Parts: sequence; C-alpha cells; structure tokens
Amino acid sequence: MISQQTIDDIFTSLDIIEIIGAKVDLKKRGANYTGSCPFHNEKSASFTVSESKQMYKCFGCGEGGNAINFLMKKEGWSYPEALKQVAALYNIPVVETTSAEDALKPEQIAEKDAALKLMGEVKRMYHKLLMESDAPLQYMLDRGFTRETLILEEIGYAPDSWRTVSDYVTMQEPRRWDLAVKCKLCVEKGDKNFDFFRNRIMIPIHDEKGNCISFGARIWTSAQEAKKEPKYLNGYESIVYHKDATLYGLDKAKLIINKADEAVLVEGYFDVLKARQNNINHAVASCGTAVTETQIKRLLKMTKNFVLGGDNDKAKDQLKIDEAAAKLASKEIDQKEHDENVLAINEKDNAGEISMQKTINLLYTCGATNVGVVEWPKNIKDLDEWIDFINKPEEAIEPIEEKLTPDAKKVAPNANKSKK
Ligand SMILES: [Zn+2]
Repeated sequence: MISQQTIDDIFTSLDIIEIIGAKVDLKKRGANYTGSCPFHNEKSASFTVSESKQMYKCFGCGEGGNAINFLMKKEGWSYPEALKQVAALYNIPVVETTSAEDALKPEQIAEKDAALKLMGEVKRMYHKLLMESDAPLQYMLDRGFTRETLILEEIGYAPDSWRTVSDYVTMQEPRRWDLAVKCKLCVEKGDKNFDFFRNRIMIPIHDEKGNCISFGARIWTSAQEAKKEPKYLNGYESIVYHKDATLYGLDKAKLIINKADEAVLVEGYFDVLKARQNNINHAVASCGTAVTETQIKRLLKMTKNFVLGGDNDKAKDQLKIDEAAAKLASKEIDQKEHDENVLAINEKDNAGEISMQKTINLLYTCGATNVGVVEWPKNIKDLDEWIDFINKPEEAIEPIEEKLTPDAKKVAPNANKSKK
C-alpha cells in the first residue's frame, strides 16, 4: 500500500489542469476550464475543471472527482496505479507501507468493496431523488445553496418512506440486504425490516479516496422541528464507516490544504458546503461529534496552520473564546481538569462554543502552531483572496496567539512567528 505521506506529496504536486489538459482540449472560461466530456458524447462543452477546487465535473453525464479519479476512469487504472503514474510524472518517490487494509482476508476485502459499491449506488439514488423533488429541493435553494453546489457535493434526499433503500436492495440479490444492514442503511427488528434514514436531506460522507461511507441526515420541515426530531441523524459506525477517523470534506479539501498549508475547521456539514460554495475549498468538519485527536493528527500531517470558522452570531463572544484558549493552552491538561476549565469558563454558553474551545485546546496540545478564529462565512472569491484576508490581522481574523499567556506560548512554540 502506498504511504499516506506519498499520497499527500502527490496531491500537493499535481496540477489538475495539466493532467486533464493532456487528455482533453480545455479552454479557460471565467475561473474554470471547460472542454468536451471524454465520458459521454456531447456537442456542448459540459465538462468543467476547477483549478481552485482541484476537481472536475461533467454537468452532462454527472462524472466528477479529482485528478486521480479522472485517470482511473479515463485509463481504467486502479487507485494505486493512477497514483504511481502521477508520482512518476512529477518525480515523486513512492514509499510503500503495510496497513490494516493489508491484514484483511480476501473475503473481507470483497465485502468491503461490495459495501462501498452499494453506498455509491444509494448516494446516487438519493441525489437523483433530491434533484427531481419539489419541496426538499426548494428548501435547499432557500437555504442559499446553489443548484451547482447540490450537484457538485451530491446532496440527496431520503423520501418519507420506510422502503426506499429496502426495496432497492431486496429487489436484487438477497445478499445485498445483509450488506445494507451492515452499512447501517437498513434496520432489522424482529421480522420487520426498514430504512434507517427517512424524510431527510442526505449529505454523503466520503473517505479520503472519495468513496461514500456514510451520511449526515438533516431534518427539513417545520413539522419535524415541532416534533423535536434531532436536527441531524448521523450514520452509525459500520463496516466502512469509522466516525472518529473521518473528517467531512477531507476527500476534496486535502489537495487544497496541502497547497495552501492551512486547514479551516468548521462545525458542521452545511458550514463546509457554504465554505466550498464561497470558494474556500480547504474546509472540513467532524461528523456530528466533537473533533477527535485522530482527526487532528491526520490534519497535522498536512499543515500546522488552522483557522476555526465560528458562526456569525457567535463572533461577539470572540473574546471569551480567546481567553479560554489561552487558559487551556497554558496548562498540562488532564481530561478532567480540561472539562472543568471549559465548562467553568462557559457555563452560560452553548455547546458550539464549548466544542470550539475543546478544538482549540486539542489543536495546540497536538502540535498546531497557528490557530485563529474567523467570523463565518465570508464572501471570498478564491483561495488567493482568502489567504490575503487571513494574513491581515486587522481584518476579522484574530490570531489567538496574541492573547496567549507566556505559559501558553510554550505550548504553542511558534505562536509569535508570522505566517508564511
Ligand atoms: Zn460527461
């Protein structure tokens, strides 16, 4: 298996315009490049490549992904083959490692592949159902998402039915029912079986290779709100989904995190989507839980610079967050003390702020060097503009380091060093 470091190096070095441009005649149109789609016959150029998002998408046939996905599809290469070809192109040495994956038995690998295939089919089914719907689609448009975002991010809709996925899988091989249960798409209770997700906006969660592994599912009607249904139903752990290790959006954001040497951490799925719609393409979020150490360590392999996106209405409490961060970062913290500190500072505040403080603390104790909090979202045209914006301390972003106590600066050793 190719090491994560090699994969990161490949994604940092590659140029999607160069790679796709070698196979498709691309013309620059506005911020993007367009051409004739190599995956279906067309007269108009629906095939679009975005340099800032490091992605391609065909609005005719729906094909899309990153440069590696493009080569896999176009050349029929496997994921490691495509990586090795690109590594050769950019003179990147390929380091192989053994991994948990290598220890899997062939039947486990086959089952996982079948599970990922099913998840992909269900994602596409939900997506089609959203785009063909009336009220759920209108709800998303009213929330400020563009049709383009809904397509690019493959947002879906699970209808108000117990049988959408259940019927889909049982009409095929019976074996697929078991798989749907193992993927936590369907539930078996006694002799009854039914769908896990019903009447929700479906946000597909991907692994770093871009495979759909779970969903975040959001309520969208006032009736659901009145019934106090949980705002989000998060997919359970499954044979393909490990919540603690997964960051929502990382599959698409990692290319940009590597190139920008910075990651933006926001609270939820919709924040990531809003950021991406505003061309801030290096935003990620945890999947319905507090940010974990595993997730932060993964990000720290790519960058030590972080920006935390806070909601607009929380910006007024900025000072409190900064104070909390300074106090927390200044201590050798054990978990109990940590929780007490966070809660003491914030007893009147909401869960979002508590989780932000925990995140700040975790970032510093794990080795981040620059952490700032920015009011969110900002209307920024592209990544360059974003980098300009956050490098201007007089603007909305406030580097937390300036407020750190001398003790805190020991924890954040490069806190006074100016960025890049
Ligand atoms: Zn196409």
